[in-house]
Amino acid sequence: MEETLIIYDDIFLDHLTGPEHPENPDRLRAILKGLRKFKLLENPKIKLERSRKAVMDEICLVHSEKYVDFIEEFCRKGGGILGTWGGGVVCSRRSFEVACYAVGGALKAVDEVLNGKYRNSIALIRPPGHHASIELPYGFCIFNNVAIAAKYLMDVKGVAKVAILDVDAHHGNGTQEVFEETSKVLYVSFHQDRIFPGTGSIEDVGRGEGEGFKINFPLPPYSNEEVYLKALNEMVDPILDQFKPAYILVSAGFDAHHLDPLTGLGLSSLGYVEIYKWIRETAERLTGGKFSAVLEGGYDHEALEKAVPSVVAAMAGLTIEVDDPPQKMPENLKNAALRVLEKVGKTMANYWTL
Ligand SMILES: [Zn+2]
Repeated sequence: MEETLIIYDDIFLDHLTGPEHPENPDRLRAILKGLRKFKLLENPKIKLERSRKAVMDEICLVHSEKYVDFIEEFCRKGGGILGTWGGGVVCSRRSFEVACYAVGGALKAVDEVLNGKYRNSIALIRPPGHHASIELPYGFCIFNNVAIAAKYLMDVKGVAKVAILDVDAHHGNGTQEVFEETSKVLYVSFHQDRIFPGTGSIEDVGRGEGEGFKINFPLPPYSNEEVYLKALNEMVDPILDQFKPAYILVSAGFDAHHLDPLTGLGLSSLGYVEIYKWIRETAERLTGGKFSAVLEGGYDHEALEKAVPSVVAAMAGLTIEVDDPPQKMPENLKNAALRVLEKVGKTMANYWTL
């Protein structure tokens, strides 16, 4: 078995949002530059494969056919900006096609791990997905790649339960909405409090059968790896042990990096490595090592060039030397972060043994 599969395709550069837009093709160019710089694409433990196009039935595991048709038609006519929320979602003529390949990339990433070819995988795709809900494009997202991958795992591949760990700096409102009422998907999100999209409070624990299966950590600015690791080890660990997922998906945002221009969290490349080592070890324990990461946000190119290769190396069990040390957190904000963790713990103790 190979270690780590990277899904990437040049088609992802064809979703054009304009030169001033933070979610632009240069993000992926920066990531590729970093992967080449650290010679990861030549490493025998890592393979890069192209994406595939998702079909209507697959996209409709989450979205309505009406919505998919609408996006196709809108792009065919030349595209434009959809909605006004968060600046709207920019679509170019080829965006529908690209978005279908983004979904397909996430699905191929899980397929190649499920069939035993790789231990884990990362889909370096765009547009991102976790803000898109069933019939609404939102926050740079058209189709919810990670939610579709989770539904695909369960409905098509017969996987019983899926855990989604969302480490993007923004709350994955779309993902939470899709799985709000199910106990088959455990959704855990770390995000900065009081920024876009404004959802993901500690009290948003899911509804009906899904109550207690949605775990939100709305963190203060400057929150660093110390905070993330404490939450992962002390809370997410025991909850996952009790939930027993058969597969782990990661909404792999890199905008929690301290250099990110849109947000104020404080992860370093080394912090990302620690988090992905934790995920690798947790997957080893619970899913036979199986997990897939799906790219979400991340808008500083230097951060992408360093943090993504660091993560890919960690996924493959390798170490690379990156000059991006952990950042110090102001004492008052650290205390605020610890209070958030404590409150999440108290809330989750209603549903899990902690
Ligand atoms: Zn984000």
